[in-house]
Amino acid sequence: MIERRGKMKLFIFCVVIIYAVVPNLYYRKISKKIIKKVSSKEKIIALTFDDGPDPRYTLKLLDVLKQNNVRCTFFVLAEKAGRYPDIIKRIENEGHYIELHSLKHTNDIFKLPNKTEEDLSKSLKIMKNLGIKVEFFRPTWGIFNPVTFHCAKINHLKIVLWSIHAMDWSRWVTADYIKNKLIKDVKPGDIILLHDGRGAKESPLKTVKALKSVLPALKRDGYRFVMINEIYSNN
Ligand SMILES: [Zn+2]
Repeated sequence: MIERRGKMKLFIFCVVIIYAVVPNLYYRKISKKIIKKVSSKEKIIALTFDDGPDPRYTLKLLDVLKQNNVRCTFFVLAEKAGRYPDIIKRIENEGHYIELHSLKHTNDIFKLPNKTEEDLSKSLKIMKNLGIKVEFFRPTWGIFNPVTFHCAKINHLKIVLWSIHAMDWSRWVTADYIKNKLIKDVKPGDIILLHDGRGAKESPLKTVKALKSVLPALKRDGYRFVMINEIYSNN
């Protein structure tokens, strides 16, 4: 009985290593096929927003971006995009790019391969119905299972992670922390991860508040904001 339990533990350990640890180590740390920085010697940076659209936050964020004449990339949840087509239209009309984060923010680690493909197909169908051709995909929490990359590839999607974030989803982080972190730590070529949805209670409002001073400060510092599609698009 004890021996059987030991074998079961070893089996589970091997499954976790193969299904979770190896793909994440490889794609997050080793693979050159994952976009994590903007490749340019110029002083450019890419702002990216995950987990929207959300009527409580995205509209306020769009106002701040417009006031500062900054364009960025939104990695949306397809289910929410389908629920709020008017926000999607506004994002597009104001010159930003819309790409895909996932169907409804479930973690690929807990998905079987067929479910990973199914969620991606459903997401792309929703986006197509909204008139959006998706070229880039950011897995939730930047986490991969062994088929995440393959599913993206067969759907002609490039995977984008990030090079800097300000933990803006956390209940412990203040608008001042986000502001100081971004103003002090951003470097040329950074892809900045922020959020216009989910997170701890009303977290994206702190992000919006911080950006009111971050955007003019980074511009004064000589930074130009680019969208992921401007740098890496096939078109
Ligand atoms: Zn997310």
